[in-house]
Parts: sequence; structure tokens; C-alpha cells
Amino acid sequence: EAITVQELAKRMGEKGADLVKALFNMDMMVTVNQTIDQDTAELLVEEFGHTIQRVSDSDVDIQKEVDSDPVETMRPRPPVVTIMGHVDHGKTSLLDALRGTDVVRGEAGGITQHIGSYQVTTKGGDKITFLDTPGHAAFTEMRQRGANVTDIVVLVVAADDGIMPQTIEAIKHTQAAGVPMIVAINKIDKPEANAQKIRERLLEHDVMVEAMSGDVQDVEISAKNKTNLDGLLDKIALQAELLELQARPDRPAEAIVIEAQLDKGRGPVATVLITRGTLKKGDNFVVGTESGKVRAIVDDQGKQIKEAGPSMPVEVLGLGGVPDAGEQLTVVENEQRAREVAQYRREKATETRTALAPTNFDAMFSSMKNDVVEFPVVVKADVQGSVQAINTALHALSNDLIKVRVLHAGVGAITESDVTLAAASNAPIIGFGVRPNPKARALVARDRVEMKYFDVIYHLTEEIAKEMAGELGPEK
Ligand code: GDP
Repeated sequence: EAITVQELAKRMGEKGADLVKALFNMDMMVTVNQTIDQDTAELLVEEFGHTIQRVSDSDVDIQKEVDSDPVETMRPRPPVVTIMGHVDHGKTSLLDALRGTDVVRGEAGGITQHIGSYQVTTKGGDKITFLDTPGHAAFTEMRQRGANVTDIVVLVVAADDGIMPQTIEAIKHTQAAGVPMIVAINKIDKPEANAQKIRERLLEHDVMVEAMSGDVQDVEISAKNKTNLDGLLDKIALQAELLELQARPDRPAEAIVIEAQLDKGRGPVATVLITRGTLKKGDNFVVGTESGKVRAIVDDQGKQIKEAGPSMPVEVLGLGGVPDAGEQLTVVENEQRAREVAQYRREKATETRTALAPTNFDAMFSSMKNDVVEFPVVVKADVQGSVQAINTALHALSNDLIKVRVLHAGVGAITESDVTLAAASNAPIIGFGVRPNPKARALVARDRVEMKYFDVIYHLTEEIAKEMAGELGPEK
């Protein structure tokens, strides 16, 4: 652990020259640009009458520790619900149908252009937020990032189909997360529907519904005919009551990115869920390695609003770049602070990525050992959906002789850190519907990183497959 005299002076709020003088008096001849060890630094700090505070991330970055809000500031907040289940069992239909149950907005709400996640007010006056998340893997990925936004999972099971692989997957993800589940037995309108069979089969997966003397609530519905949606909403409200969900509204906002993309007209746009505090127009914030200032807040009906409180899903405009799903948005006191934190995080990210990236030699060595050639790539795309599709498509190109290794995949313009990472591993950068920012462009030229741009996934896989074949050489 070493620090330059200059940096230490900055953190102490003293002049570099004064520190050099003090060091000189301690018989140490150093200039401001030289580094000193931790012990010397501590001596200096004491010499200047400052208290010692370990140099850590939180000195520059936003405090990482969970600063819980005082109990008296907490207010009840709506539950956040994620719908999961096997493909074709009716997740999308249910999400659409529930939107129409909103007593405030009614059926018409479904027509306007809107974000996928929304909040409804039930007949009983309860508010419930439904999240539109892209699948089970995303649910777990977000949790791994510490984004535990889902309070309740509604597991949709089609009564005419039964427990399927993705049903089991959803159960596993939910149980692993320790999130309470409500089973919605769907398609009850179908003549071949057999709800009782579903209840029995669920036992095999440690899901014991109330009818089977367990404590998991279940409800029979038809998303298509809008049958018993109120029953489902009641169960959600009941479950939420047990959870006693609370958040402090009157503080700077924190939110989690649910989804983000580059919008042609509006620039980077993120759908976020407010976890605490109130987000206001004009707020300065940091999200991941980007800073920004809230230019507009758009609610789930496409209306611009001035502020958004806990459990509200809203679109935020005014981001510096496209963040990843699951990243936390944090409001900070001013623009300079936002920039400082973002910059610091970018530097950190580059450091760790470079450290993690194997050198050419390492990559070669490991591929020699395994007798499998690795084909490293860095992927940047316009939306999260493309990233996932490209990831899957690329992995499908791997075979016994050569394997695609995605060093990094993300949404947004190609940045300096992408180029650094690619250069360290001699990997090409694949840009899907995106281009490098100016700084990255300069680095590309310097580091001679190969760039490949595509707008069609099929062209991308074709080209990469060709490259991979070339890598193996004609003899193989
Ligand atoms: P997802 O893949 O889980 O999102 O499923 P979808 O919502 O796309 O539904 C798959 C198919 O099932 C669609 O053709 C729906 O119209 C149909 N479907 C959904 N819910 C019901 C229902 O309650 N009854 C019937 N009969 N069909 C349904």
C-alpha cells in the first residue's frame, strides 16, 4: 500500500510542498510525485494533526455500507412483484391483463406506449408494482449484483400443461432467493385444465400450497378471460401485508436499473425501480460508471412526472451512458460529485478488468494445455436483449477445437475500458448497433484493436465463424 505525496496531500487538504518539507524534517528526501509507504503516510497525517482514516474506496466512492434509515422515517411502500414461469404458460398475457385491472386507469391504459413495468391500484386501494424482467437468469443475475428488488414472485403454471423445466427453474431461483411465492394456476378456462394435479406435482419440488396444508398461496386464474385476477391481487396484497414493506421517501433517491437502452431520439434511457427516497427532476446521480442529471422522469403510462417515490417503476432520461440491468442509481449532492465518483469507478473498473484479462501468453498457454483454442471477444450492443442473443449465438459457435470466450459483454457505446480489455487479450471488439466513443476511437488506433460492426446477428455469427476457422488454420 503506497501513495504519492501529492495524492496524500490532496486527501489531507494540505499543500504538497508542506508535506515534502515535513518529510524532509523526518530525514526523508522525496518529491511530490514519489510514493511513500503506509506507515510514513500515517506519521505524516498525525504530524499535521489529522485523524487517521484508512484509505479505502468509500473515501472517494459513495459509502458502500448499508446506511439504514431511522425507523421513524420509514413509510409503507407497495410490494414489487415479478412473474415467472415456463414459456407459453401465460406470463405476458397475465402481465398485460393485470395492467388492465388498475382502477385508476382502467383498460385504456394498455393502449398508450409504455414501459413494461407498471404499478396498479387495486379495488381495495392497495398499490402493487409489477416488474417486467427478461427471464429467470436475469432475476438471479440482478440478485448477484445485490439488486434484491423482487418482494414476491408469482409463479404461473398452465393447468393444461403442468410442471415444466422452466417452472422448476423458476421455483429454484425463487427458493434460492428466499422470496415468497404465490402460485397462479393459469388457463383454467381450458377443458383439459387440471389444477389439482398441479398442486400435487408441486409437492415434488418442495412447494406446498395451502390446499395441501402448506403455506404457499395458490389461485386459479385465466389470464385470457381475465378470470379471478382480483383473487390473485388479493393474495398479493395479503402476502405483502405480512412482509411489512417499508422505505424512507424523504431522502435522496436510490434506484435499481431494470432495463436500459439507447433510444435514437432521447439518448440513453433506463427503466429504474425506486428502492428508497424520492427521485426528482434535476437530481444529479451516479449509476455504475456513468454520471448523469435527471432530465425527465416518465411514468408507466408514458406521462412526464416531476418526482417518483419508493417502489415506482419509471423511465429516467439524462444518463451519460447506458447502464447494465441490476446496477444501482444513486443521487448525489451535486454534478461534480457525480462526475468524480463515476470517474473513480471507471478507473477502478479498468484496473480490475486489465488484471483479470489473461495476457496473450496466458491465453495461449491455457489453450495449449487444454488442446482447445480460445477465441476471445468483447461484445457491446444497443440493448440488453441483443447482448443476450449475441452471447448465446457466439457460444453456439464453439466446438471441440475452438471455444468463444466472451471477456465482457454490455450495453452502450464502445468505451476506453472495452478497448483496454480487448487489447490486453488481443481480442476483437464486436459492436452491434453501436460505435466507439471518441476517446475509445483514439485508443483503438493506438492499440491496434480490431473492430467489427454489425446490425444483423446472422452476419455477426457468419463472420465470427469464418474468423474462428481461420484461427485454427487449414490443416485442422
Ligand atoms: P408466456 O410465454 O409465458 O409469456 O405466455 P403468453 O402470455 O405469451 O401465452 C402463451 C399462449 O397462451 C398465448 O397464445 C396466450 O393467448 C395463451 N394463454 C395465456 N393465458 C391463457 C389462458 O388463461 N387461457 C387460455 N386458453 N390461453 C391462454
